[in-house]
Amino acid sequence: MNHRLLSFSFIVLLLSVLYSCKTDNKMGSSVPQKQYVYLTFDDGPLDGSQNIDSIILAEKIKISVFLIGSEVDGDRDMETYFKYYEENPYIDEYNHSFTHGNDQYTLFYSNPHKATEDFLKNQEFLKIQYKIIRMPACNTWRFNNRKQDDCEINAVATADSLAARGFKVYGWDVEWQHHEEDGTPVQSVDEMYKQIMDLLNTNKTFTKNNIVILLHDEMFQRRWEETDLKQLIDRLRKDKNIVFEQMRFYPQD
Ligand SMILES: [Zn+2]
Repeated sequence: MNHRLLSFSFIVLLLSVLYSCKTDNKMGSSVPQKQYVYLTFDDGPLDGSQNIDSIILAEKIKISVFLIGSEVDGDRDMETYFKYYEENPYIDEYNHSFTHGNDQYTLFYSNPHKATEDFLKNQEFLKIQYKIIRMPACNTWRFNNRKQDDCEINAVATADSLAARGFKVYGWDVEWQHHEEDGTPVQSVDEMYKQIMDLLNTNKTFTKNNIVILLHDEMFQRRWEETDLKQLIDRLRKDKNIVFEQMRFYPQD
């Protein structure tokens, strides 16, 4: 082989190695998978909503709130907190019924027609833009032909009736629980963070790589509880593959 042919062969070999490396990179698992976190706050507006609003304005992350119209009706403070939510560009407002079934859930869901009317009334009263619902006391899902009824009360007919009217009904994957008497959170920030990452990484969420977290407005009435929420957000956002989304974008792949 003469010198020129040898050089040519070497260049061809080098190019083919480089090309295969590039292809490997494209085909391989080097692209990290995004994981989507949906922070959803139920039962507002309540005392505590103003704190959620200010944290979210400072942190600039997208969240969802499921609101109860009767809380706003005739209450100046709650009207103000509701306005804060409406004006906050990171917060989406959705429907959690007008009366919350007066907290008599068995009675509420025993009349699917009346229950549906209650959601429709809320939709109109709060002028909710999106047809997205969370049903009080029920981890019920209806969207894109997927359904699940994980509820102690039989709320199937109400969920079906809402779905037939074009509403998407969303439950949750994990709840940051609170003590009923004073609203203080049950799980620590560390425990919550671990629970969230475990569910995502072991594929135990309703949709893979998407996790819906349920919280309640009343948990954030005090400054130290506010700090808990900020700490959880900070922990999650340290991971560059975590994306905060609102429920109208659920689910993402
Ligand atoms: Zn509720």
